[in-house]
Amino acid sequence: MDFRLTEQQRELQDVARQFARNELPAIAAELERDNVPPSRDLVRRYAEMGFLGINVSEDLGGLGLGNIEALVVLEEFAKISSAVAFPVFESSVGPVRAIEHFGSDPLKQRIVPKVCSGEMVVAVSMSEPDAGSALTDLKARAERRGDTVVLNGTKRWCSGGGHADAYVVYCRMSDDPGARAIGAVLVEKDAPGLSFGPNEELMGFRGIPSSDLNFDDCEV
Ligand SMILES: Cc1cc2nc3c(=O)[nH]c(=O)nc-3n(C[C@H](O)[C@H](O)[C@H](O)COP(=O)(O)OP(=O)(O)OC[C@H]3O[C@@H](n4cnc5c(N)ncnc54)[C@H](O)[C@@H]3O)c2cc1C
Repeated sequence: MDFRLTEQQRELQDVARQFARNELPAIAAELERDNVPPSRDLVRRYAEMGFLGINVSEDLGGLGLGNIEALVVLEEFAKISSAVAFPVFESSVGPVRAIEHFGSDPLKQRIVPKVCSGEMVVAVSMSEPDAGSALTDLKARAERRGDTVVLNGTKRWCSGGGHADAYVVYCRMSDDPGARAIGAVLVEKDAPGLSFGPNEELMGFRGIPSSDLNFDDCEV
């Protein structure tokens, strides 16, 4: 098997490397010093340069390239700092891809293009005080009530917590055993009943807010 990058992938890597090396070190130093995330203007700039949603389908505003391409760009930005790399990660890994693959069409159309254009940040919330690797231990609950879903529980270590515009929240949706009970709900930042814990003081990973999410009869 040939693991070398293709010529097109190497070109993308060069563009990302030049941008990251020329434009990001001073910004990264400030973000890490102040422990704040990149400005929305910078994130929109990434979008204009084609660094967001690299592996998201073109129909939904992405570039329609592969995971390797997304990770090649992510790697170049992360060589400078995880703070400046995180928007690339947020737009090509995890929550946005879960919406792209499993969300309803209206949900996809409403959220994914905005993530690819840098207008919206979506975070993922899986972990809980008593559930890390074993996501089948989740205790946060989502209950369907008519047309709404009501969430209760506490989530932990959400990267982007308090900063992101919306959260893909994994929770228990029934009393079925194991993974069958686990599903996900998209919760927007201003949903009634959602509050955020204090920003965690992490040893590293500066410039990426991280907090608890508390759901108290949060209606979505
Ligand atoms: C930088 C950073 C960012 C994060 N961002 C997010 C985020 O955005 N959203 C979010 O939801 N979470 C986030 N997390 C949390 C992360 O998902 C959890 O740390 C992870 O799921 C592991 O959980 P834990 O720390 O409780 O470790 P544990 O689950 O307690 O695991 C501890 C150790 O035990 C091992 N282990 C666990 N279960 C088993 C088993 N059954 N058999 C054998 N070995 C086992 C693990 O491999 C590990 O070595 C983040 C964590 C970090 C460090």
